[in-house]
Amino acid sequence: MLKVENLTYIYNENTSFAKKALDNINLTIKSGEFIGLIGHTGSGKSTLITHLNALLQGTSGKVLYKGKDIWEKDYDRKALRGEVGLIFQYPEHQLFETEVIKDVMFGPENLGCNKEEAEKKALKALELVKFPMENINKSPFELSGGQKKRVAIAGVLAMEPKVLILDEPTAGLDPKGRKDLLNQLKELNKNENITIVLVSHNMEDMAEYVDRLIVMGDGKIVFDDIPQNVFREKEKIEKLGLACPEISYIMEDLMKIGINVDVNIIKVEDAINNIINTIKSRSME
Ligand code: ADP
Repeated sequence: MLKVENLTYIYNENTSFAKKALDNINLTIKSGEFIGLIGHTGSGKSTLITHLNALLQGTSGKVLYKGKDIWEKDYDRKALRGEVGLIFQYPEHQLFETEVIKDVMFGPENLGCNKEEAEKKALKALELVKFPMENINKSPFELSGGQKKRVAIAGVLAMEPKVLILDEPTAGLDPKGRKDLLNQLKELNKNENITIVLVSHNMEDMAEYVDRLIVMGDGKIVFDDIPQNVFREKEKIEKLGLACPEISYIMEDLMKIGINVDVNIIKVEDAINNIINTIKSRSME
């Protein structure tokens, strides 16, 4: 559905500040995927995602959406931005309307819906993010951090995107708020078939939620695989300035002291089961 071909992007090209932020990226994102994108600060993640809905145009290479080059002359990039929704870090800072419902209606109205249609879409979007309906006429500024984020995400969902790209959406949330939001993204992915690309620094979240993990380093894609395979490459991951999920190190340590656990496990719950089973079978020996 989204295809990136030989994409290179240079900031401040032809000046002494020139910086190659993307270096020949090739990538295919299929409908319905839940993808994680990780990489050290400055590795090119933000630059890459801003290319996916045509906020930036590559210095060379192409981005195709449903087979069409998004930079072709008559391509409708406004419609594309409705279909490929991008949610930046701290989207709650971009809320501006006097009422929650008005803020969420802004996107569909901007895409040409009349008030009635926009309101219908806004209400559905607020429902999808489980926003408490009694608050829809409140000012967004009266809400908690988690609720503000929900409103911001609903604002993009109201445009009925096929792809949702989120840059560190859980930044600033407490652990419960983080889990709630991630579970909701998983539901949107499963129930509404929305393709999700999640940029995060949290390896635990990556291990827990994503089906495919893309790792960037210095403007290039270094890994693109299921999380279990990526996190098996501990040394390479650490060389990129990243770490693997904490639990995977614990499993390795247990193995080193002779407890025969599965070192490929990356989720806490799987680890608990595996450790209990390993200890049980030892005590029966
Ligand atoms: P990430 O999102 O992984 O932190 P970015 O895409 O923000 O990485 O940055 C990639 C590289 O491009 C970095 O070296 C960064 O300093 C540089 N860069 C990012 N934005 C700009 C900009 N507006 N002007 C010049 N260089 C930039």
